[in-house]
Amino acid sequence: MPSRVTGARVVGSRKVKDQAVLLVAGHWLMLSVAINIGFLLKIIHDGNLGMDWYAFNGNGVAVSSLASYTAEPKPGNDVQIQEKYINLDHGDPTMYQSYWKQMGDRTTIVISGWQSVSYFSDTKNLCWFLEPGFAKAVTRLHNLVGNAETANRHIVVGTGSTQLFQAVLYALCPSDAPDPMSIVSAAPFYSSYPLITECLKSGLYKWKGYTNDFDKDEPYIELVTYPNNPDGSIRDAVFNGSGGILIHDVAYYWPQYTPISSRADHDIMLFTLSKSTGHAGTRLGWALVKDEAIAKKMVKFIEISSIGVSKDSQNRAAKTLDVISDTYEDAETSNESKRFFDFGYEEMAKRWRQLREAVNKGKRFSLPNLPVGKCNFSNRTFGTQPAFAWVKCEHASVRDCESFLKQHKILTRGGEHFGSSKKYVRISLIGYEEDYNEFIRRLSLINSEESP
Ligand code: PMP
Repeated sequence: MPSRVTGARVVGSRKVKDQAVLLVAGHWLMLSVAINIGFLLKIIHDGNLGMDWYAFNGNGVAVSSLASYTAEPKPGNDVQIQEKYINLDHGDPTMYQSYWKQMGDRTTIVISGWQSVSYFSDTKNLCWFLEPGFAKAVTRLHNLVGNAETANRHIVVGTGSTQLFQAVLYALCPSDAPDPMSIVSAAPFYSSYPLITECLKSGLYKWKGYTNDFDKDEPYIELVTYPNNPDGSIRDAVFNGSGGILIHDVAYYWPQYTPISSRADHDIMLFTLSKSTGHAGTRLGWALVKDEAIAKKMVKFIEISSIGVSKDSQNRAAKTLDVISDTYEDAETSNESKRFFDFGYEEMAKRWRQLREAVNKGKRFSLPNLPVGKCNFSNRTFGTQPAFAWVKCEHASVRDCESFLKQHKILTRGGEHFGSSKKYVRISLIGYEEDYNEFIRRLSLINSEESP
């Protein structure tokens, strides 16, 4: 009996153990499901991570926007597209994908396993992580387009123009100054400037935005962006103090967006692959810098923050830039169905035509007047057709244009993120065509409705 009792006890305690194991396993399963659901929800909510995916909420706090964004266009029927949110908040240059698809393997490169092993690219160059092929391709394209002076300049490559902006701030602000340097830009300014400047609460610099609340005779840095993001204006420095150092962000000074009237010839110029060829995912930018000491300090920053810049990206970018130049320079390939800047120009012209038509259908919205000029590259005379439209909600009852458009499932970025009024929104024109067409359809409908 005792043995049976013992046996029953043994069986009983095994049961208890099994139940405990099951209970623990159950908890783990629930926990793992919860974690995965949480993770999925986070992806769905955040949409994507990356600087330009965040907007500035006016208090220097980054806020991510709703994620209706799809990285690739999904096959869908008309009903699906009519019901979804159209995300025109981010300046994601997916418009260019169809061009590069049409070019097939022209820009394909093969990278063998043994390549890009070393940190170093060219130890003789001030920018030791700059791939010589990329430097050559950048210079060649600038000389072809005539949009920037490259002679007697140092090229500094960065992980996007975003990293170069940080590098240049680091390079220009003395570490032994008693106060942080003021960083200013006329409103409306690119919404990432204050975010980047304030992100680490640096002792070197401080975001002042559009304010006269600083001593212009003391050193300060002014950001000049042309054509400007968000409003497409062609700008000059506005503060005109004797202590000003200028950074020219010329991300959009390319012939698909604006007439190239002369070679940009400034001390510090920032360019990016994201808005020139549309390869934002390659994460490459380059700076053309006159002063050797500044270029050296920028290189130091990139050395400290990321020990250089991806060689794979640089080699891929070199190929892309060279293919663009080839299609213009080589007689043999000049009968290409469309050359890159012609494609970009025509696509931007079409999208701006569609937008103006939709805006002109009623009185709810307005667009800024943009300058017209002759392009020395294409010989066309045309008005600036920026990557973004700076739209104003004209009706007095609409105080917050972003929220108003959101009710119609159109996601944009409100004017306050750019140091301006909520009556304005920035709308990206360089996304996928099907999204853009649906946006135009919705905007035309809203605009033809009677005023509230
Ligand atoms: N400057 C301006 C004016 C921009 O609009 C952008 C992209 N939105 C950048 C810089 C950043 O470019 P990148 O993708 O190279 O970091």
